[in-house]
Amino acid sequence: APVELPIHEAVLGRAAEYGERPALIDGVDGSTVSYAQLDRHSRRIAAGLAASGLRRGDVLALHSPNSVAFPAVFYAASRCGAAVTTIHPLATEEEFATQLRDSGARRIVTVAALLETARGAARKAGGIADILVCDRAEGHRSIGDLLAADAPEPPAALDLDATTDLAALPYSSGTTGTPKGVMLTHRSIATNLAQLAPLMSNGPGDRILAVLPFFHIYGLTALMNAPLRNGATVVVLPRFDLRQFLAAIADHRITEVYAAPPIVLALAKHPMVDDYDLSSLRHLVCAAAPLDDGLAAACARRLGLPAVLQAYGMTELSPATHMVPASATAPPPGAVGTLLPNTRMRIVSLETGADLGPGESGEILIQGPQMMKGYLGRPAETDAVIDPEGWLHTGDIGRADADGWLYVVDRVKELIKYKGYQVAPADLEALLLAHEGIADAAVIGVTDEDGNEVPKAFVVRRQGAELTADEVIAYVAGRVAPYKKVRRVEFLDSVPRATTGKILRRELRARERSSTAR
Ligand code: ATP
Ligand code: MG
Repeated sequence: APVELPIHEAVLGRAAEYGERPALIDGVDGSTVSYAQLDRHSRRIAAGLAASGLRRGDVLALHSPNSVAFPAVFYAASRCGAAVTTIHPLATEEEFATQLRDSGARRIVTVAALLETARGAARKAGGIADILVCDRAEGHRSIGDLLAADAPEPPAALDLDATTDLAALPYSSGTTGTPKGVMLTHRSIATNLAQLAPLMSNGPGDRILAVLPFFHIYGLTALMNAPLRNGATVVVLPRFDLRQFLAAIADHRITEVYAAPPIVLALAKHPMVDDYDLSSLRHLVCAAAPLDDGLAAACARRLGLPAVLQAYGMTELSPATHMVPASATAPPPGAVGTLLPNTRMRIVSLETGADLGPGESGEILIQGPQMMKGYLGRPAETDAVIDPEGWLHTGDIGRADADGWLYVVDRVKELIKYKGYQVAPADLEALLLAHEGIADAAVIGVTDEDGNEVPKAFVVRRQGAELTADEVIAYVAGRVAPYKKVRRVEFLDSVPRATTGKILRRELRARERSSTAR
């Protein structure tokens, strides 16, 4: 059924019914926010923000690690008819200022610990009218002051489809280029929640651990909007620390974890996992980057779960198009899910654009109500991904089997072209990770002395493992077709990754450029 509610109502519409149930628990200090409080706080903060000048159509920059205050501020902005642009808490002043300018945000909500960065960014960007903190900072206005204010609530009759009434303006991760402001409407985000709800298992009594960031669309949807809409309890952690994460699962009897590949890797391989009682866990979902089958199976086995459930999506799709249903006990290994309702997919040839059949790999094209309205202020880039018939070209390569399970191969842009053959780095990374002496790995294409693009592996050795570059090359060569061989190896202390587990290939490329320039 079509969604007819703005996001704050789509999520908090049943808050009165859930009443005193805990909506959010601070995983560090244990403080709790009930559904009734969350609803009340978001109304009070909205009134305060409106009184201080936030208007319908404005953009509010939310710059905070995960906290129990984050959702209240998000829904407050929504009540005012303002779009939230989430800022990475580790953004530099320059990155932050760029996003302020690009998004047109004139107000910032931050936290005391990040206030100096926010002030610096505001100075650089110019035109910032107000900076508030969620917690407390000496001599500085805070969200708490707004809670105490007795202001009238803003009127909210929003156009759920209008780019002038956006719900959120998240920035894509910047894995393949400059991060772009993604225009998501109330309808696109609320519809995605409705599409996902039957496949998720979170409802009253479930406890979700929010360790991936709310600022990224994956966390915003899976860890904040969806569980709060469904009446579950969200236990919030500000950052990923393995010991704190494991302790939180044990202490709060967490039933569901939404993770990314590095967390699955830790759960599968880290000795520390055995020190904690993780028996409350019923579902482990993984998304945002390619996950190796073997690793997923090892993780599920260790946790006593039937499977790791994958999901697939992107910022431009609010974000989900596919998810393995929580009820699936034996999804096919590697599948990222089946198509959500009201969503259409085509797989087309990279060379000809012709539609491909089951089992054939090509670019994934999507159409559905969860699709963005475009990239803010970038019509050419928008036209480059949304074709005239309204299909979004994801830039990802995948194949679907006859039963509709989707498998993601890699990104089109990451394919390494070796003498006319195409090599997917994700396949080689999965193979490398299966080696017991390898703790982590990343593969990119580099140019050899003959001008060919060849796969180069960056490898992190497991502690105590003795492994040479020749051994790595021989290991891969023994298991893949000759054109896929890894031809260069470099050992690193760690693979650069975003919080969502995405390999920061641009950093590896920059490293490569500076070493060949030497
Ligand atoms: P940018 O678009 O700025 O380069 P990005 O694509 O990394 O950055 P996001 O929107 O955060 O930004 O990520 C979406 C991408 O993540 C997808 O296009 C896909 O490549 C990858 N992804 C998401 N889920 C999965 C999954 N289950 N398996 C493999 N890859 C995935
Ligand atoms: Mg992208």
